[in-house]
Amino acid sequence: MGFGSDSSGGAAVEQDSFGKNLFPLKTNLRFEVPEGISKPLLKWYDRNRRILPWRENPAPYGVWVSEIMLQQTRVEAVKPYYERFMERLPDIRHLAAAPEEELLKLWEGLGYYNRVRNLQKAAVQIMEKYGGNMPGSYEQLKDLTGIGSYTAAAIASIAFGEKRAAVDGNVLRVTARLCMDGRLIDDTKVKASVEEELTRVMPSDRPGDFNQAMMELGACVCLPNGAPHCGECPLSGLCKAHIQGCELEYPKRAPKRERTLEEKTVLIIRDENRAALCKRPGRGLLAGMYEFPSLEGFCSEEEVVAYLKENGIRTLRIQALEEAKHIFTHKEWHMRGFLVRVDELAPREPSEITGKWVFVEPQERRERYPIPSAFSAYTKYLDHEAPENDFKKGSSLK
Ligand code: SF4
Repeated sequence: MGFGSDSSGGAAVEQDSFGKNLFPLKTNLRFEVPEGISKPLLKWYDRNRRILPWRENPAPYGVWVSEIMLQQTRVEAVKPYYERFMERLPDIRHLAAAPEEELLKLWEGLGYYNRVRNLQKAAVQIMEKYGGNMPGSYEQLKDLTGIGSYTAAAIASIAFGEKRAAVDGNVLRVTARLCMDGRLIDDTKVKASVEEELTRVMPSDRPGDFNQAMMELGACVCLPNGAPHCGECPLSGLCKAHIQGCELEYPKRAPKRERTLEEKTVLIIRDENRAALCKRPGRGLLAGMYEFPSLEGFCSEEEVVAYLKENGIRTLRIQALEEAKHIFTHKEWHMRGFLVRVDELAPREPSEITGKWVFVEPQERRERYPIPSAFSAYTKYLDHEAPENDFKKGSSLK
């Protein structure tokens, strides 16, 4: 007896010694969502849905901003960002006209900053093409910068009542378990087929609620990384993985790509009042954000002092700080920090490096200079008005 691959769906099939198929293993040959999921799902949603600021008044602009913020970020973390954003930029016109630094500041800490840049690009497109009114159909929405099939379907269904399934990671996990779908959920063709299938079974009168109920179920009940709460699930009677007791075997994913590691030495350089920051390049990782001056690799105290001297800056005191790590999707930063007290931040003759620095006071930094959360371990060393207190353990080079 052996295991073969069925040509209809790539699922594993048990075979006898003559290569004849006996029965499929725990994967599904035909992907089909049970027709009966809507009723119990919506009933559960009506009783259990969380009260969220963007849900209570599902206007297109608010749905859009919240959906973009919720990509890669938890609901609880998004709430204060959403409220602040809507207060400062209450409509598409304000968003289209906002200065980039204000946008990045409003997004500071949420990460994936291209999301907010694309949000603004799309706002400009809506101003130019639709007179500032959000277009109402899935196809028109998908044409806007930064709006993919998930976000377009979420806005079209929640704000405009279009029957179109919004499929994110949560929904893929629920359907993979529900149908014992053994295909890889990272595959865009699989996502497209789940979108098609859920659009088929969703009710025409409540498409927005159906989508939100599926997302809510994935976020609160059919949980990743651990046991799903099948006892509380309105779909447990229809869920193939639950019936067979193999919930944790789904969803299937392609093996993860290894992350690259980068070591950096991060310098918090301060004179009496100000600290040095520099702007990251306009393209690539954390584009256009501000960061601390840094050196590649892990440097010693002496190397840092020598580097600053080469760039015309005299170190008065230096103190090693804690090490920190930040994980991006495909990259990890391992950081070593130094707090450096200098006599004067701006050298009389700026070098190629120091010529690009800006010198900012704590209050100014908080209001105008967005620093990514990758540096959160070190940002606190900017916020003390009296830097002398930070140098208790530092070496004096006076
Ligand atoms: S029964 Fe369990 S595995 Fe199936 S959808 Fe519900 S929570 Fe997920």
